Amino acid sequence: MGRITLDKVQKSFGDVEVIPPLDLEINEGEFVVFVGPSGCGKSTLLRLIAGLEDVTGGEIRIDGQDATMTPPAKRGLAMVFQSYALYPHMSVRKNIAFPLRMAGMDAAEQDRRIEGAAAALNLTDYLDRRPGQLSGGQRQRVAIGRAIVREPSAFLFDEPLSNLDAALRVGMRMEISELHKKLDTTMIYVTHDQVEAMTMADKIVVLRAGHIEQVGSPLELYRAPCNTFVAGFIGSPK
Ligand code: ADP
Ligand code: MG
Repeated sequence: MGRITLDKVQKSFGDVEVIPPLDLEINEGEFVVFVGPSGCGKSTLLRLIAGLEDVTGGEIRIDGQDATMTPPAKRGLAMVFQSYALYPHMSVRKNIAFPLRMAGMDAAEQDRRIEGAAAALNLTDYLDRRPGQLSGGQRQRVAIGRAIVREPSAFLFDEPLSNLDAALRVGMRMEISELHKKLDTTMIYVTHDQVEAMTMADKIVVLRAGHIEQVGSPLELYRAPCNTFVAGFIGSPK
């Protein structure tokens, strides 16, 4: 579960082509990082995978099934938004439960999933607090908890740490990597931060102006960048 295939996926806004036809294979359980400068199409690509934007052309397959026209809620994927997307008037428990309540899940199953997510994220003692009573890192964990309880086949992160300070960011990076090991689920992680890409990824996808410059492990990209753009981004001396 969590294998995602993009087959000539293309996206235009009006007559501006933001993503030229693009192929990409994301394997089960892989931690894939989309990296590239601001405006290169990282968020658009993630939103196409999530179904929050419709493709202009091409096909998206999830676990071998054509999901190109599948609505977001039925793709089995969970997008992790930045922590400021939490509901300030709801407790942590209610924030985490929100997608489950929307889906009409019975209360006992909701509780089971909330307790599991809270334990995985060290939030058990904070379930009755409100987001305003939490640190930035704890709020970000609640946002992740809201994705975990849906038991998705893949998590999609769009620069989840960009509004945290530098010290907190390092800690959260490690927590997300730990979580990936624990859950063993596909994660797609968008960032413009090359250190995040190099330290977290199994596979890095380097994007530039909507197309893929290179795909490879951090070591492969470091040792053999295909051009000076990749070398400059990854920080190797080509
Ligand atoms: P990134 O996340 O890498 O910073 P985006 O995916 O947000 O890049 O944007 C890629 C390009 O697509 C940018 O030129 C941006 O202005 C454009 N774009 C994104 N969303 C829209 C939209 N809804 N309408 C028109 N243009 C858009
Ligand atoms: Mg973006």
